[in-house]
Parts: sequence; C-alpha cells; structure tokens
Amino acid sequence: MTKDGNPARSLGINTQLVRTGYDPFDYYGFVNPPPVRASTVLFPTAEIMDTHAQKYTYGTRGTPTTNALCDAIDELEGSAGTILVPSGLAAVTIAFLAYLSPGDHALVADSVYGPTRHFCETMLSRFGVEADFYDPMIGVHIEKLFRPNTRLVHTEAPGSNTFEMQDIPAIAEVAHRHGAVVTMDNTWATPLYFRPLDFGVDVSIQAVTKYPAGHSDILMGTVSANERHWPRLKETNGALGICGAPDDAYQVLRGLRTMGVRLERHQESALAVARWLESRDDVAQVLHPALPGFPGHDLWKRDFKGASGIFSFVPAVERKQDHKRKAQIFLNALTLFRLGYSWGGFTSLALHVNLFDRKVTPPPTGGPVLRLQIGLEDVSDLIADLEKGFAAIAAA
Ligand SMILES: *Cc1c(COP(=O)(O)O)cnc(C)c1O
Repeated sequence: MTKDGNPARSLGINTQLVRTGYDPFDYYGFVNPPPVRASTVLFPTAEIMDTHAQKYTYGTRGTPTTNALCDAIDELEGSAGTILVPSGLAAVTIAFLAYLSPGDHALVADSVYGPTRHFCETMLSRFGVEADFYDPMIGVHIEKLFRPNTRLVHTEAPGSNTFEMQDIPAIAEVAHRHGAVVTMDNTWATPLYFRPLDFGVDVSIQAVTKYPAGHSDILMGTVSANERHWPRLKETNGALGICGAPDDAYQVLRGLRTMGVRLERHQESALAVARWLESRDDVAQVLHPALPGFPGHDLWKRDFKGASGIFSFVPAVERKQDHKRKAQIFLNALTLFRLGYSWGGFTSLALHVNLFDRKVTPPPTGGPVLRLQIGLEDVSDLIADLEKGFAAIAAA
C-alpha cells in the first residue's frame, strides 16, 4: 500500500510515477516536496537525543527530501530499502564494499560498465578480493566458475556498449545455491522495463543520473536491496558516510514524474532508428536487444517490458586499421547527435565505443562500434543526420 492508501500494484506505471514517494498534504498541499538541506537536526529533549527516538537525526542519515526519493525508488523496485549515493558508479562500488570481504571471490559480467571493471581490478584487488569476468551469455553454465569463496555475482543486462542480454533468473538460482549475493546494474531498463528483484536479484543498482534525472545535469546513484540484504547495505552506507544531496534528490524525484512518457518516446525513436540502420547495406550489425535478430532477443522478450533509447551499431568498414578514422569521420559529420558520454537526457548522443578491455567476449569485427543515445528530437531529423555520417565515410 502507498501512503495514501492506494494498492500500488493495481495502478498503472505512469499513475504510480505521478504519485509515488510524496504526499503533497504532508507539506501544505505543495505538489513537490521542499528541498530540505541539512547537517544538524535538533532534538527537543536530552532523552530523545540519547535514544534517537525521532525520524531524522543527522543530515547524512536522510532528510524528508532524500526519503521521498528513496520511498519512490522502493515502490518502483519492490525493494525493502534504498540508499542514495552521489553517482551511479558509487552505487556499484558501495554495493561491492557492502557484501565483499578480503579473501572473497566475485563474478562480474564481461560486458560490465567500464569503470566498474576498473574498480574491480584496482581497489577490490588491493583489498584482497579477486574478480573473474564471465561471458554475459553464460546462463546456468556460470556454475562452473564458482569457487568455495564466491560471495557476489554482478550482472548488468543489457551489457554496456554491446548490449548482451543475461539469463538473470538462471544466474540468480545458481548464485543462491552457492550462497552468493546477486547484484544488478539496471540502469538501461530502469525498473519500468525490468524489475530485478522480481527475477531473483538481491540488490538492484541504478545510475539515476540517466533516465530518472533525464536532463544531463544531475549525478546520483541508487542501491535497492531486498529484505534479507537491506541491513548490510544500510549499515555500509552509514559506515562510509557517502550520501546523496537533497537538491539532487529533489531533481531526480521531479524527473521520475515524467520518466514513463519520456522512456516511451526514447524507446519508439530508438527502435525506428535501429530498424532503419538494420535495413542498410553499409551497416554490418545493429546491437539492440529488441531487434528479433539480436542474440539474446528471446531473453529480452521473456523478461523485459520495454527497451530504452541507447544501442550500438557497426558501420561496415572492411580494414581493421581504418575503423578508428572512419568512426571519427562519421561522428564529425553529425550535427544533431552530439559527442558525449552520459546518456538518458533529451539530446541525442553518439560515440565510438572502446572495447579493448573485454576479457572473454570478442568485440564485433565488421567495423567500428558506434553507440547512439536517441534523445527526444524528431526521428526523421535524426535519420537525416545519420545519413550525413554514412555519406562522409563513403566519400572518405
Ligand atoms: C552511466 C552508468 C553508470 C555510472 O553512472 P554515473 O552517475 O555517471 O557515475 C553506471 N552503470 C551504467 C550501466 C551506466 O550506464
């Protein structure tokens, strides 16, 4: 049940997004919650201070604004508790720090977000935790990679930049049989299109920097745990003192209200562009899980409710030594697509993907891999822009 007595699951997702997390009549009827900025919280008596017998005690432990966002994310994820951290990357690293100890072993999808791999190979390794990278399409065969000290399996589906799907329920079943916690970076789908905890994941991670914030101007991460794994996550958050800022939480909550309709448009436009790319002779491959020809499409269809607006494609470029230069020529010819990393905003973006760090999954070979974030512009304009890119590499 939500605070206003509505059975949450019977409401449509857009209705939920409009109402979740905050009741305007908790604050005089104002539609949005106040951004409460705080370090000090006052206690009315020494007795209450001694027992911490009030809802808020200190700025790092939450304010009405950050709590409103945590409540909203809990409702969307179906989680027991959510913490806010200052970036999506911090959301991944804090989850690893919560559940891993020296001597432990972790299994991490090879198609993982690049900086997550960097964290595993530097800090985790320095702290005596060994991480192995597995083929994201491995499914139940992940079992053969388990060791007696495997404590965490990190998933991300679809994978960063190459969009491999994962059989999440199968991996979660094996992991639980071996006593490992299952974490998932669910930034691509958001809980609107995939609810990790319903598929056996213990801890769902989002860079809410992306679609929830939605305007390329906020950095924030959320980590949401099921009942069993919530106490450890909350305790780690308190121990590290890494918390989300109220002004950013305010903006993310505001972004959630419109995320459903934005995602619908991102999805529709991205699919239109992906299908157009797929129909071209000068395209070697389109890496988009919602395309029927894509390996892993069946998993996407089985488990996901939708697709967001980011995918990659491979323009056909024969000689490997030309890949980089042709990618640069293509990208420089674009005017509506801008060159930039963090996606989920309203503007379309493109970049040349670097896959040098992959350990077990071979990158596509038919040309350079170009990643597109399809924004909220009109599709016909975006396609015309991409035409310029193809014309430029053909002329080069
Ligand atoms: C962007 C991204 C992150 C990191 O988010 P930041 O807020 O930029 O740190 C983590 N995981 C995935 C899959 C991402 O795309």
